[in-house]
Amino acid sequence: MSVTKRDYYEVLSVSRDCDEQSLKSAYRKLALQYHPDRNPDNPVAEEKFKEAAEAYAVLSDSQKRASYDRFGHQGVSNGVGQGFDESAFGDFSDILGDLFGLGDVFGNGRGRRQRVQRGEDLRYDLEITFEDVMNGISADVQVPRLEACAKCHGAGAEPNGGLVMCATCNGRGEVLYQQSFLSIRKTCPTCSGRGQVIRQACSLCRGEGYSRTQKRLKVNIPAGVDTGTRLRLAGEGNPGPAGGQPGDLYVVLKVKDHPIFERREGNLHCTLPVNIAQAALGAEIDIETFDGPQKVRIPEGTQSGAMVKIRNLGVPEVNGRSRGDLYVHMDVQVPKKLTREQRKLFEQLGEMLPAENTPHEHSVFEKVRNFFH
Ligand SMILES: [Zn+2]
Ligand SMILES: [Zn+2]
Repeated sequence: MSVTKRDYYEVLSVSRDCDEQSLKSAYRKLALQYHPDRNPDNPVAEEKFKEAAEAYAVLSDSQKRASYDRFGHQGVSNGVGQGFDESAFGDFSDILGDLFGLGDVFGNGRGRRQRVQRGEDLRYDLEITFEDVMNGISADVQVPRLEACAKCHGAGAEPNGGLVMCATCNGRGEVLYQQSFLSIRKTCPTCSGRGQVIRQACSLCRGEGYSRTQKRLKVNIPAGVDTGTRLRLAGEGNPGPAGGQPGDLYVVLKVKDHPIFERREGNLHCTLPVNIAQAALGAEIDIETFDGPQKVRIPEGTQSGAMVKIRNLGVPEVNGRSRGDLYVHMDVQVPKKLTREQRKLFEQLGEMLPAENTPHEHSVFEKVRNFFH
């Protein structure tokens, strides 16, 4: 059937003297409106879409446009008479690519499409000690992961002549489909975009391209890390298939509990038993810390639950300079058993001490006061 072609300017609803920009936006509007993705199984829309694309292909080319202006459809029939001028797709993908992700579909000859996949990210759980947290550590780990085969370097084929060019795509890695009037480039299904196929599988990895190994790695763990901290080792994950980028390795830390010190944010806490005389009279006690022995001065009249703060003996800030503090909680020990002599002394003391035994409300204030002693 032969239908009279509509005027290209009319198709795009632009004036004959319109500039490039308004041409482009007029075309874009129509293309979006009638795009097959938005109008599945709609032959009318398809026809309109095609018509607009053809008009734009001509009018966006100054030479063709001049020819068209002078001679009408006759003047440009060579380029666009049968189906379609491929060069129009170049602009097409620029215009629509963002919206439809059509950069791929309208392959425009700007380099072969790379469909190479990135390798898988891996997770490795690592338990470290409290001392490691305080000092930082360079840990040796063995991570089970894939390694490109030593013989075929990931290709999966025998090194000499094991690979041949893919016959489906002639080594280009992609194939061109004609879907209605659109040319669509797709990754070659035979070779998955590699452009080559295996004729003879590698004898070492049986064509897999990889071997399972225990990769030895050094992980530098800075001081201050905590349970749940993730350290990323870029490129230490599994290798990408067909020579793609390797994934990353995430080392996820778990800190073992310490028998004495407990961490709260950047601060450390511990409990120090003191006897009733030390609490009443005051004392100086040496305790072992991560920074060596440290004197804790217990003031006279210290109550059970009171705290002594020692600055800058807490957890270091990750990659920083500041440190938290160490809080020493006093646990005043009342003797459970007394010798005869001790009993005598306590009895004497008891006669001298005031007995303030009126019950009072269980006071939150009391606790807070002790806490900030
Ligand atoms: Zn191999
Ligand atoms: Zn192929």
